[in-house]
Amino acid sequence: MDIEKIREDFKILQKDVIYLDNAATSLTPDPVVKAVESYYFDYNANIERGVYTFSQEASKAYEVAHSKVAQFFGVDEKEIIFTKNCTYGINLVASGLKWDKGDRVITTLLEHHANYLPWLRLAEKHGVEVIRISPTKEGFFELKDFEKAVNRKTKLVAVTHVSNCTGTIVPVKEIGEIVHRENGLLLVDGAQSAPHFGINLRELGCDFFSCSGHKMLGPTGTGILYIKEDLRERVEPFELGGGMIKDVDMDDFSLAEGWERFEAGTPNIAGGIGLGAAVDYLSNIGMSKIEAYDRKLTTKMLDGLKSIKKVTIFGSQDPRKKTGVIPFKVSNMSPHKVAFTLDELANIAIRSGLHCCHPFLKYVLNEPFGTARASLYFYNTEEEVDTFIETLKMIV
Ligand code: PMP
Repeated sequence: MDIEKIREDFKILQKDVIYLDNAATSLTPDPVVKAVESYYFDYNANIERGVYTFSQEASKAYEVAHSKVAQFFGVDEKEIIFTKNCTYGINLVASGLKWDKGDRVITTLLEHHANYLPWLRLAEKHGVEVIRISPTKEGFFELKDFEKAVNRKTKLVAVTHVSNCTGTIVPVKEIGEIVHRENGLLLVDGAQSAPHFGINLRELGCDFFSCSGHKMLGPTGTGILYIKEDLRERVEPFELGGGMIKDVDMDDFSLAEGWERFEAGTPNIAGGIGLGAAVDYLSNIGMSKIEAYDRKLTTKMLDGLKSIKKVTIFGSQDPRKKTGVIPFKVSNMSPHKVAFTLDELANIAIRSGLHCCHPFLKYVLNEPFGTARASLYFYNTEEEVDTFIETLKMIV
């Protein structure tokens, strides 16, 4: 991987920033910006509505983007719905499945609020029983806790693939096997996994997978939801309108068959086309190369942090079991102050606070003020990691 060459594709990096907040959103390479620009400059039109050339071109480009994403995840394009973010996809599933009083949903205390609040609402609205499995402080689970919790009433297990608080990789495939034994379903929050390693959704064996396009080089306002083919009809779209029907009569209507069923109204056409370019970009580099490079940088950052006395690292310190999400704290200094000072001294961008994971930070990690969190991606360099460590040493 020629990192210097890759960095030339990310114009924003010329601004002399050290961007270590990739878990929040990724930077956007030139081919993605160009794909968006080309839609607006060359063939701006609504899709699936017009018979004229621009509309046909736009429709084609938007459809091709769906097939590129489907191919990226090893599934059929009918199973890939474009959303506005990861949160939307999870909410679509939560509101679209039919719930009965006493149904059981199993989630965990490691979840981002996007994969926690929708289930709490089901408890409130439909009397669904929500079970929360607790991870260790490092973000690991015991599979036997899932075995104990899954019963006949279990309709769904909703779990993150990679934690945005610890970076730990969760054995979702094994969890899926447990829930499938009782005929339950598995929803995976892939916001932090999809950008970092290759995923074949068929092999993973999940029923639903939601992730953020904007964390994997896509434009903001893009997300991806996978719904396994045989479950499509079981999920009711929560928005109704144009573009998603087969036919409408005076008193009733029938829904379209593919992803169109869930994309009511004019979608984010430019964003979707940009997302197609983003997965092209990732595929051209190769996800296994991205994974290996991420791991190298993660190891370097962990080693650097370990060498600073007043720094505590949270989460697993084994780079084989995590991605480059690295939470830490400096003793006697608030996480926000650490982040603010890194920015002030060396233009280093990291996240600080509770990371939309209040249950984990408050009740598992016992850090009610949160953590500082550096998160890496493949356009970061070893020199950037060195500067980050040196600056942090200075602050300490
Ligand atoms: N889940 C996880 C694990 C995340 O890290 C995030 C984003 N921080 C989300 C869900 C929500 O993603 P989005 O902002 O795209 O809805």
